[in-house]
Amino acid sequence: MVKAVVGANWGDEGKGKITDTLAAGADIVVRFQGGANAGHTIVNSYGKFALHTLPSGVFYDHVTSVIGNGVALNIPVLAKEIESITEQGVPMPSIKVSDRAQMVMPYHILFDAYEEERLGGRSFGSTKSGIAPFYSDKYAKTGFQVCELYDEAALKDKLQRITEVKNILLEHLYHKPLLDPDALFTELMLWRDMITPFVCDTSAFLSEAIAEGKTILLEGQLGSMKDPDHGIYPMVTSSSTLAGYGAVGAGIPPYEIRQIVTVTKAYSSAVGAGAFVSELFGEEADELRRRGGDGGEYGATTGRPRRVGWYDCVASRYGCRIQGTTDVAFTVLDVLGYLDEIKVCVGYEIDGEITTEFPTTARLERAKPVYETLPGWKCDIRGIRSYEELPEKCRAYIEFIEEKIGYPVTIISNGPGRDDIIFRESKA
Ligand code: GDP
Repeated sequence: MVKAVVGANWGDEGKGKITDTLAAGADIVVRFQGGANAGHTIVNSYGKFALHTLPSGVFYDHVTSVIGNGVALNIPVLAKEIESITEQGVPMPSIKVSDRAQMVMPYHILFDAYEEERLGGRSFGSTKSGIAPFYSDKYAKTGFQVCELYDEAALKDKLQRITEVKNILLEHLYHKPLLDPDALFTELMLWRDMITPFVCDTSAFLSEAIAEGKTILLEGQLGSMKDPDHGIYPMVTSSSTLAGYGAVGAGIPPYEIRQIVTVTKAYSSAVGAGAFVSELFGEEADELRRRGGDGGEYGATTGRPRRVGWYDCVASRYGCRIQGTTDVAFTVLDVLGYLDEIKVCVGYEIDGEITTEFPTTARLERAKPVYETLPGWKCDIRGIRSYEELPEKCRAYIEFIEEKIGYPVTIISNGPGRDDIIFRESKA
């Protein structure tokens, strides 16, 4: 049984927490896209962790963590992450890295920073983790797969050819120091030592696991709005954030994905540039940002303050639809307990017309939110473990949104911890 845990919105919906909770009943957790550019924050009995590359199952002895072929693999970051969790008392996890995963090269990170610098005020708000240059090279067929580390002569030759082209850009466009292919080769040999214990054919491993009836979780990074095809292009990430891509990025048959848990937060947040229709500003935003998530809405990777806003049913309905949602996980609901009234964006007004369909980017830039206001429940709901025990106004808020987005909310998260979770019956 394969399940995907993916985001409906702009990322930071709490996928890490949901994956960590669901991983209790899983055998394998797979990362299938993205890189170390975003992070999941997980709170459990070992402490609080920000994971960037490791799947959110690493805290369980019984879970094998897989980094699939679709991931942008930053080997030193992965090595550091493994070291940091084991230093904090987490037992050494079982990790498998696809031999077809491609590596984020040192120059990808440089090019990311140089390009943002060149763009100045027109920049994409990149986390400068090298993700866009990495995926550009992957699809331009000039990337490096992990398996290439094991053919030294071919690797040296390819480094020579690729640095030649990169150096033209470095010299003439960016006016920066040039790359030395020999130094890169030496660095890659160090990376090879770091990654070798984990490398295997993960697609074959997963295929066997499926045949044995194992439970596999595919863990998405970011959310629907950041998908390069269906999101708010060009303010998107460079790999598909959709459950459908889980099949490609993990190397499994698409029809094996039986449950798609789409995570959406009880209010909105986003990092980086791009249209954000229900965004809040000023005092109201500051208060929500301060109270939000677990210790405030600040980026897990960058520490940047996140933009925050009211729940957006238009974006979420669309976000759930393109994921192919079977179940919605509604998270961070406890945070809203301080509000007397809660606004919900139920439509967009674009050029004088109201729509509930999520528009393409140019029209989205002109959209103004249409709000409905619901009463707040004005109490702390952490610690509640059954749906019926939630305050009536809180249930009304959930059911209102459920109706507007059109997908069943079967998981409710009312705190950052593993046990802060309420399940409703799933039809998947
Ligand atoms: P992800 O990238 O989708 O995994 O999301 P992040 O980890 O970046 O952001 C979610 C933040 O919300 C983290 O700080 C979590 O610890 C926290 N969180 C997750 N679920 C809940 C919840 O139900 N309540 C509260 N208060 N915090 C939560």
